[in-house]
Order: sequence, then C-alpha cells, then structure tokens
Amino acid sequence: MPIYEYECRACGHQFEFLLLPTAKETPACPECHGADLEKLPTGFALSTTELTKARVKKARAQHQSGKNFKDKQVAEQEHIQEHVREYMPEPPPKKKKQ
Ligand SMILES: [Zn+2]
Repeated sequence: MPIYEYECRACGHQFEFLLLPTAKETPACPECHGADLEKLPTGFALSTTELTKARVKKARAQHQSGKNFKDKQVAEQEHIQEHVREYMPEPPPKKKKQ
C-alpha cells in the first residue's frame, strides 16, 4: 500500500499518510487540521540522493518541531541515569576538610 508524504502549507508540518485505494477523503494536517497540503515525492521515484535529502529534511523538521524528540531525549537521559545508579550505587564519600 502506498504511503504518501505530505507537507502542510499552512504550518509546514510533514507527515506520512497511508492512502487506501478505497479512501476518498483527502488527508488533513494532524497539527492544524488544514487541508492545504503539498504531496511530497515518494521513495519510489526518487534517487538515493534525493531520498536521503528528503529523510534529512524530514528528520530536521522533526528535530526542530520536536516534542517527540525532546521526550525521547529525556527518556534516554533517565535511562542513562538509571544505569549509572545501577552500576555505581554509592558515590564515594567526600573527604571532610578539617
Ligand atoms: Zn498544518
């Protein structure tokens, strides 16, 4: 089934939309629910370079708009902290100055 990428002209949000053969409705932007969408070229017709560019552009857009990215970063940091606690249960006691 073809997945099409769209970019919302209103807010610039990019998203993938699974276009079912039976679907008659047009996709709407999940961010602002706008219907003024630009259909981006899909992977089928793209050269590797163009595909990579599109992916980089998409990743950058997600990075910038990134609530999800921020959540992921926080989650990773918490994960790291848990590991640090796991393997270093007690920090060495500080020597008191006398
Ligand atoms: Zn939008």
